Amino acid sequence: MTEVLTNNGKAVGVKVMTRDKKTYNLKGKTVDLSASTFETPRILLNSGIPGRAIGHYLTTHTRITGVGNIRTAGFPETLGVLALLVPRTAERDYQIQLSGSYFNYLYELKPMLEQVNVGYGASGVVESRYENYVVLNPRRVDDYGVPELEVEFSYSAKDKEVFRRMGEGVKRALEASQATQTSLSSLTAGLVYHDMGTCRMGYDPATSATDPYGQIHGVQGLYVADNSVIPTSGAANPTLTTVALAIRTADHLMKQLR
Ligand SMILES: Cc1cc2nc3c(=O)[nH]c(=O)nc-3n(C[C@H](O)[C@H](O)[C@H](O)COP(=O)(O)OP(=O)(O)OC[C@H]3O[C@@H](n4cnc5c(N)ncnc54)[C@H](O)[C@@H]3O)c2cc1C
Repeated sequence: MTEVLTNNGKAVGVKVMTRDKKTYNLKGKTVDLSASTFETPRILLNSGIPGRAIGHYLTTHTRITGVGNIRTAGFPETLGVLALLVPRTAERDYQIQLSGSYFNYLYELKPMLEQVNVGYGASGVVESRYENYVVLNPRRVDDYGVPELEVEFSYSAKDKEVFRRMGEGVKRALEASQATQTSLSSLTAGLVYHDMGTCRMGYDPATSATDPYGQIHGVQGLYVADNSVIPTSGAANPTLTTVALAIRTADHLMKQLR
């Protein structure tokens, strides 16, 4: 799919191309884009859909992973699943997920190891800022004639502070669980795969691309249901939130069609 077709502020269908570059216009009363945080704004921008926020407010998570060895001597005799979540709070803009070798063993019976490797995976909140955006680059087009995207992204001072405190938090979690740290690594933008926000939901067309049901402001029948609608990153993995919002959008659509 390369474009959304509109008429008088209403979605009327989509333009698609086959691999051998034949173009078809498919009619539809509603169009629901779920092409991802990068591809959905790309299609919208390529279709000339207006909206100040489309492509902007790109966000993601910062990520630090610590790994440590924990001696199993103090473990209870019956092992459960080694998986703990230290949640984000109002004061702590990150979460830490602890998971260990026995987590990966699931419930199978295995011989008890003297030590287990435990991962301390922390995800940090990244601010949603207009200054982080994707835009079409008309000088580079793909095989279907659609301009490629350029990405402009940087961390704010607040993001860097969350990242710093998250590193301290992971070290504290290692110490508190009496683990011997074996590695500490970090992932930055583009490598966390939790990109969000380029068609964020909200009430105000100045700061959001869609309304709270995922409909693009000012274009009747044009909906978005993917990670791009998430308005702020939070600290948790995004996919379940996206799925929940997509179900909500589908319920809303059903009511409109009745
Ligand atoms: C290795 C890895 C591990 C991950 N682990 C987790 C995890 O543990 N928890 C979590 O919450 N998230 C995880 N994620 C992130 C998760 O994959 C994304 O949050 C989720 O897939 C985003 O969904 P989406 O619908 O926005 O985009 P996508 O899942 O990317 O779906 C977009 C779809 O649109 C199609 N498409 C794109 N452009 C077009 C076009 N022009 N025409 C037609 N179709 C098009 C694509 O082919 C694709 O099928 C992980 C990602 C990776 C890569």
